Amino acid sequence: MINQIANWLKEAERTVIFTGAGMSTESGLPDFRTKDRGLWEKFNPDELANVNALIHNEKEFTEFYRYRLQELFKYKPHQGHHILADWEKTGVIDGIITQNVDAFHFDAGSENVMELHGSFHAFHCHDCYKPYERNKYFDGETKCACGGTVRPNIVLFGEQLPQDTFKQAEVAARAADLFIVLGSSLTVSPANMFPLVAKDHGAKLVIINREATDFDSYADATVQDMSIKEALLAINDRLKQ
Ligand code: ZN
Repeated sequence: MINQIANWLKEAERTVIFTGAGMSTESGLPDFRTKDRGLWEKFNPDELANVNALIHNEKEFTEFYRYRLQELFKYKPHQGHHILADWEKTGVIDGIITQNVDAFHFDAGSENVMELHGSFHAFHCHDCYKPYERNKYFDGETKCACGGTVRPNIVLFGEQLPQDTFKQAEVAARAADLFIVLGSSLTVSPANMFPLVAKDHGAKLVIINREATDFDSYADATVQDMSIKEALLAINDRLKQ
């Protein structure tokens, strides 16, 4: 299967990668939705990750996101992220669509990254949109000169998904002749439409995920018995042969 995927990668004119939570958990990053984690002892994300909290409960909202950023800074992109960045530079892939908000693809050096849910890569003032650096937020710069609340560039509950990014991802998926899903169970809508958009427009579909997904029957190849990192390392070795 790895050989086959490597051959498809060599033959493909436009390959698009789609990454989900599994990509990040291989960096050790806990999935914040997992309720037995420390995060839930301190905060209730269901109550804080939304616009209402930003407006009416600014103090706790800010504490929550500073904590998330501090947690995020404990982890780093893994080899798989670096292989993808390498593949972009050498023209093996065209871009990455991601559901992840950790910005590990950017940190690894990828440039064409379509972040469907935004990311912690940058921050801005909720009121005047002035940009803020994540390091400064980390250091405590959480209030804008205009009096507004500084917040991460992620999509909060109650906010619209970034239409431009979705459009860009759709264009990329339509144009792809190879579409590879890494570490997503493809349960989150509407992000999970992209593999089928690609497939409908003639792309080969590969799903590398630890568990079966509802989309496996549409896939030309699935890999479940390897981690993403192992699979990408193995494919990368074949590419170099
Ligand atoms: Zn402002």
